[in-house]
Amino acid sequence: MRAVYIQKPLDAVVGETAAAVCGPGSVLLRVRYVGMCGSDLSSYRGKNPLVSYPRIPGHEVSATIEAVGADVPSRFQPGMSVTLSPYSNCGECASCKRGRPNACKNNQTLGVQRDGAMTEFIAVPYGRLIVAENLSLRELALVEPLTVGYHAVRRGRVTASDTVLVLGCGAVGLGAIGAAAHQGASVIAVDVDDRKLDLALRAGAKTGVNSKHQLLNERLQKLTSGHGPDVVIEAIGTPETFRLAVEIVAFTGRVVYIGYAKDEVRYDSRLFVQKELDIVGSRNALPEDFEGVIAMLSKGDFPLDEMVSKIVSLDGVPQALQDWYAAPASISKILVEL
Ligand SMILES: [Zn+2]
Ligand SMILES: [Zn+2]
Repeated sequence: MRAVYIQKPLDAVVGETAAAVCGPGSVLLRVRYVGMCGSDLSSYRGKNPLVSYPRIPGHEVSATIEAVGADVPSRFQPGMSVTLSPYSNCGECASCKRGRPNACKNNQTLGVQRDGAMTEFIAVPYGRLIVAENLSLRELALVEPLTVGYHAVRRGRVTASDTVLVLGCGAVGLGAIGAAAHQGASVIAVDVDDRKLDLALRAGAKTGVNSKHQLLNERLQKLTSGHGPDVVIEAIGTPETFRLAVEIVAFTGRVVYIGYAKDEVRYDSRLFVQKELDIVGSRNALPEDFEGVIAMLSKGDFPLDEMVSKIVSLDGVPQALQDWYAAPASISKILVEL
């Protein structure tokens, strides 16, 4: 069975791996589409602290059920289209005990701490599967990245009376924009790429600001009557945007960090106290976030097709990683079609 391997930073190849087999409680999946995530790019760049090499990447999956192991409920049948939750949880750590398994201390994400889905078949416990017959295989592969943004909006306790600023309009940012708009909030989207801002507007943002061409602070003052946004969601992961979030958020506002800043961040911590900010992290997603995203997508007005920058074959992945590495800002989502 063929698979993509990241052998070491900046070195991806297509090779052979042992055939997947499904034991009791597991389902064998024929992989159909895999989305390439920013974290896969980080693994390729050697900038993902959680990954070890060699590693088969990929955790944004759509698949059809090929075979069902013993003890799997009859609602899972061969031929069904599914996506999956790529996380694992130990059930023992503080997060798991608090009912927040998305932030499990011992989480192993598919394609990060264990081999992922850029291969022909994978076996997964049936409890990780999500069935949504009303979405196409291509759409199902886009659910997981959107859930990450969706979860961040819930972490930020966004309500209809909030103005929400989302920094970064990649797939995760778009999920946050869609979810906040779905809550009735007024959303301002910020990016440096006009095409991504266009998508953000179609995903539900009221205003798009290109921070490369417009003075962000000035625009925000005007858009929020001088107060700043009630909630800022950081979906880029740079020291500059981490700092910017606490600088631009309103007094007594909320800041949600999704991105992993690749380098150390220096703060004027006075702002935390003076503004009495709620600053929270947001990691992965919960099963209810998957349900929320599927409900949001089922309305049919989310620009799913336009989110996909290009579709490549398994053999095209090494080149696609290299191209993405060379021009990261211009690409929203690359799908691998098997
Ligand atoms: Zn991802
Ligand atoms: Zn745990």
